[in-house]
Amino acid sequence: MTLPNARPFLLMPLPSLPFAFNDVSEVPDFCWAQSFLGFTSHSLKLQPPICNTNDSAKSLRKVGEFAVQSKDFRAIVNAKLPLSDEGAGLWTIVLNGERIVKVSPQSDFVRPESENVWDAKGCPVLPGFIDAHMHPISMGLKQLRLDLSQVHSLRELLQIVQNASSLAPRPSSRFLIGYDWDESLFVDEKRYPNRWDLDKVATDVPVALRRIDGHLWVVNTKALQLLNLPSNHPFVFKTSGQPNGLLADDAIRYLEPFIEPTLSEKREALRIASQIALEHGVTAMADLYADLEVYESAVANGDLTVRFICCIPPATAQQLKEPLQWRIGKERCEAKFVKLFLDGSIGARTAALREPYADAPDETGRLLLRDRVAEGLMLELSEMGWRLAVHAIGDLAIDQAIEAFRFVRMEGRRFLRHRLEHLEFLRPEHIGWLSKLNLVASMQPNFVVRWQQPNGLYEARLGWERAKRMNPFNSVIKAGIPLAFGSDGMPFGPLEGIVGALNHPEPNERLNLKQALLAYTQGAAFACNVESQVGTIAPGKLADLVVLSHLPHEEAFGNEWQSVKVIAVFVGGKLEFGQQKN
Ligand SMILES: [Zn+2]
Repeated sequence: MTLPNARPFLLMPLPSLPFAFNDVSEVPDFCWAQSFLGFTSHSLKLQPPICNTNDSAKSLRKVGEFAVQSKDFRAIVNAKLPLSDEGAGLWTIVLNGERIVKVSPQSDFVRPESENVWDAKGCPVLPGFIDAHMHPISMGLKQLRLDLSQVHSLRELLQIVQNASSLAPRPSSRFLIGYDWDESLFVDEKRYPNRWDLDKVATDVPVALRRIDGHLWVVNTKALQLLNLPSNHPFVFKTSGQPNGLLADDAIRYLEPFIEPTLSEKREALRIASQIALEHGVTAMADLYADLEVYESAVANGDLTVRFICCIPPATAQQLKEPLQWRIGKERCEAKFVKLFLDGSIGARTAALREPYADAPDETGRLLLRDRVAEGLMLELSEMGWRLAVHAIGDLAIDQAIEAFRFVRMEGRRFLRHRLEHLEFLRPEHIGWLSKLNLVASMQPNFVVRWQQPNGLYEARLGWERAKRMNPFNSVIKAGIPLAFGSDGMPFGPLEGIVGALNHPEPNERLNLKQALLAYTQGAAFACNVESQVGTIAPGKLADLVVLSHLPHEEAFGNEWQSVKVIAVFVGGKLEFGQQKN
């Protein structure tokens, strides 16, 4: 099967910044970053609508009902609503303040005297996309540090590090930090970089580069000297008995003090991420390991342009005791979920498997928590009122997650709506349990495009027989399990993910277009427990909407997807992206 190389909503790649240090205090007010950020301004993405306007002009009539309310009244007119129950034809979405008050046939619409109407000109209007699994601050930081996500060879990666390193002040103990290399894209040597590679281009500046999955870092020798790692740590990897510079999962905490961004950097990163989200039609994102300090400051300033669902680390939740009272409508942010990790990733071979990796027969990954610890922690947090978002990729980790949720259900006073993250190696026997336990499946269809293809990374790690059965979206839906889609930022952008859902290598696991769009809207809202507020276009809901140029026929998911554009994005009825007038 040939997959479309569709990246319809991706930003143009930004030039890498000359400096990429963990402390930007020497560079005043992010001025250098702003100059690049200007490059992402909305004007670049604005597209003229291409929809049919013949019917719409005719359908606007001037009679009474709405005119009297014209002061407060706003409406989006001539909208196609492909995800709503309303059916074909053109519709008007009537807004009052932040909310939708009515959805009525276009023929009933009365244009108010005072113009506060946005004309969709027959374009499809969907609920704003909700990315159910993201790391927005990390996405924003990539623009402030080294972005390695588009690097296609080891040689190119080393060249970027060499250039950045040559600009670093000496002597320096500040880390040069880069994000999102992916060796599966390398055309020269398809392997992880190691410390000896990095030493060739940076000997006196500490370097730390994160793999795209976030579960693996590579550092150079200078960095290793500063980190002072325990020599026998299971996640400090070695070659011929020597640390090779690769650190995974639990060992990453030794690196964190050296790479932690400042609060102002994180705030700026959140602002950048929000801007990128809007350009992709995303009006809400779940932050799957949220730093509450950043959100507290953003909420206090009232400057969130999109909505966030914070999933916070267990220790923060234990300190807080109970979920925060923020609401997605008022503060544009909620913090009612806790994120737990049970394993790592397939790419880093740290996802916990029942059977060994195909390309490393001695390795099965590793569970990060003992069964009793996972069960106790999940019960404790659930009893405090926190909803759980549990990372489980390998089949062994999914076994553990299900057992732990069964324990919480048996022992707890209540059983809230919880979710499982990724579920990539979901086996048929797991699916019944997910259904029995009312768990939500939070999955990433963009991983299918990126890694779950013949000759791709998952085939290398697992063999094709196992790899092709991963991410069984249709089996999940058929079992009645609520399905939410998110990107995990690899890459960000709902329509990239939708391409993966429609093109699953196992034909039985493919979704149709409507199912895929629902998983990125209604399903994601349900997974985030905010479905009473967002995720559908209906009276009473917040007016979070995305207007697309068109929707291709659902079997036509090749080049036609690349021509789909975001025309406009409304958050709480406010036009946050797009032109005021069409
Ligand atoms: Zn994640």
